[in-house]
Amino acid sequence: MPKLQELFMLTDKGYKDLKGAIAACTLTNFSLMLPFGVMMQVIMELIGPLTGGEISWNRMWLYFGLGIAVAGIVFLCHKNDYKKTYTTSYTQSESTRITLAEHIRKLPMSLFNSKDLSELTTNLMDDVATSEHVLSHIVPQLFANAISITVICAMMAIFDWRMALAMFITVPLAFFIILFSRRIYGKLHQKHMDAKLAASGQVQEYIEGIKVIRACNLDGEKFSALENALRTMMRLAVAMELGTGIFVTGAQVVLQAGIGLTVLLGTTLLTNGQIAFIPMIMFVMIVVRIYGPVLVELTLLPELFYFQIAIKRMRDLMAFQPMEGNAEKEIKQYNIAFEDVDFRYNDDGEQTISGMNVTIPSGGITALVGPSGSGKSTVSRLIARFWDTNKGTLTIGGIDVKTLDPEHLMSYMSFVFQDVVLFNDTIYNNIRIGNMDATPEEVMAAAKAACCDEFVQKLPVGYDTMLGENGSTLSGGERQRLSIARALLKDAPIVLLDEATASLDPENEALIQRAISTLIEGKTVIVIAHRLRTITGAEKIIVLDKGRVAEQGTHQELIRQNGLYHKLFTIQQESLGWSVGA
Ligand code: ATP
Repeated sequence: MPKLQELFMLTDKGYKDLKGAIAACTLTNFSLMLPFGVMMQVIMELIGPLTGGEISWNRMWLYFGLGIAVAGIVFLCHKNDYKKTYTTSYTQSESTRITLAEHIRKLPMSLFNSKDLSELTTNLMDDVATSEHVLSHIVPQLFANAISITVICAMMAIFDWRMALAMFITVPLAFFIILFSRRIYGKLHQKHMDAKLAASGQVQEYIEGIKVIRACNLDGEKFSALENALRTMMRLAVAMELGTGIFVTGAQVVLQAGIGLTVLLGTTLLTNGQIAFIPMIMFVMIVVRIYGPVLVELTLLPELFYFQIAIKRMRDLMAFQPMEGNAEKEIKQYNIAFEDVDFRYNDDGEQTISGMNVTIPSGGITALVGPSGSGKSTVSRLIARFWDTNKGTLTIGGIDVKTLDPEHLMSYMSFVFQDVVLFNDTIYNNIRIGNMDATPEEVMAAAKAACCDEFVQKLPVGYDTMLGENGSTLSGGERQRLSIARALLKDAPIVLLDEATASLDPENEALIQRAISTLIEGKTVIVIAHRLRTITGAEKIIVLDKGRVAEQGTHQELIRQNGLYHKLFTIQQESLGWSVGA
C-alpha cells in the first residue's frame, strides 16, 4: 500500500480521489497566475507612453476580453477543485465512519470495559471530522502549493535566478518552524484531548444522573466536578491555541520576510542596473500572490499533527481483533453445556466463573438463581458469546460457541433484559428491530401478543409515536413489554430472560407474565430469576454462588437438599409478609 494512503488511512478510492484533489488544486493555483499575466500586460500597455510608446486601445480591448475568459477559466478550476476536494473527502469520511462502526459492532465486549462510551464517540465523530477537515482543507492544498511554488520559482529563475531564490527561500524556512514545533503541538493537543474526553464523560454522567443528583441533593458536589472538568478543558484549549499561535505567527513572519527580501534585492539589482524595472515589479507582484495561500496553509498546518493523533486512535481501534467464527454452521439442537469453564472480565481481575460444569437441556425452562453478584448475568453473557471463556468449553448442540460467528449465533437467540435498550425511533420500528424482514401484520401480531397494543393505541399517533432517547417517555413495564414484542418477532429457538428486579404493579406484572408465557412456548429458555416463587415450575434450577455451581435440580429436590436454595427461598417467602409500618 502506498505510504501516503497508509498514513492517511485511506481506501483505494480515497487515495485515488486524494491524488485527483491534489491535481485539481495545482491546476487552480496555476490558473490564478493567468489574471496576473493579463494584468502585467495591461500595466505594460499603460506605462508604454513613459517609454515613448502609445497605448493601443485595440490591445486594451483584447486584454479586457482575455480578462473575462481568464475569469471563466479560474471559476471552472475552482469549481473542479471544490468538487474534488470537498465532495470526495466527505465521501471518504462517510466510508471511514461506517468501517469504524462496523468494526466496533464485531469487537469483543472486553473492549467496552477498557474504553468508555465518550471515547468511542470521539473516535467515530471527532477523529473522523478531523481527518475530513485535513483531507479537504489541508493535504491537497499543501501538495498543490509545494508543486506550484516550485514550478513558478523555477520558471522565474529563467528571468533572474537571484530574485527567484529570494522569493523561494523563506517558504521551506517557514515550514521548518512549524515542523520543529511538532512535538510541542502533539503534547498540548494530547492534553487538551484528554481533558475534552474527561469533560464529555462528566457532562454525560451529569445529564444521565440528573434525577439521582437532584434526589440526593448532590447538585453542588457534582456540578463543581463538572465545572472543574470544563475549566481544565478551557485552560488547556487556551494553552494549545497560545502554543500554536506563537509558532504559526513566527512562521508567517519568516515567510513574509520573503516579500521584503525580494523587494530589497530587486531595488539593489535595479539601482546596479542588473534588472529592468518591469521584471522587478513582476517578481514583487508574484511573490505577494504566491505567499497568499501559503499564509493560510501555515495556520492550518498544525492540524496535520493533531490529525496524526486522531489517526493513531483510529488505528488502535481497528487493531482490536473482532470476534470471528463460522457463519454457516447450523445449530440443530439447543442443549447448552459448560465444561470446566473459567471466566474473568479483566486479565488482572478476580475470577467471576470458576470450574463450571453444567448442562442446560434443550426445550423447557432452566432458571439461574443465586445471591447478587454470584454470576447469573455473566453465564447468560457467555452463552450469547458477548464474552469468550478463558478456560474450558461452552457448547450449544455440541458446537463450541467460540467457533461460531457472533452475529450468526445471535440469530438463534432472543433476549429480554432488564435494561431494555430502545432507540429514538417510532414504536413500530423499535419492535421491528427483532426481525427487519417482518411484515406490518407480523409486527402488529407480536405487539398484541406482548400486550403492547393496548397502551400503544392510547397514544395519539399509535405505533408511529416517536420514543424519546432510550424510550424515556415509557414506563418500566411498557418498555419491558416492547422488548418482549421484539423477541416474539424474532422467534429464536433460545430465549434468555432476565427477570425484572424492580417491583411492577400487579396489573403490569400480570401482563408481562402473559407476554412471557407466549414468548417461551416451545423454546429453550434460560431465565435469570430474582423472585424464586416465579420459577418453582422450572425443569431445572441452577444455583450459583460466587461463580460456582452450588446446587442444581428441580424446586422440590433443592428444597429437600436444605442448602443455599432452601435458605434463599425461605428468606424471600418471609419477606413477602413484610410491609411498610409492619
Ligand atoms: P445480580 O443478581 O446482582 O444482577 P449476578 O448474579 O447477575 O448479579 P453478575 O452480574 O454476573 O452477577 O456479576 C458477577 C460478578 O462479575 C460481580 O462481581 C460483578 O461485579 C462482576 N462484573 C459484572 N459485569 C462486569 C463487567 N462488565 N466488568 C467487570 N466485572 C463485572
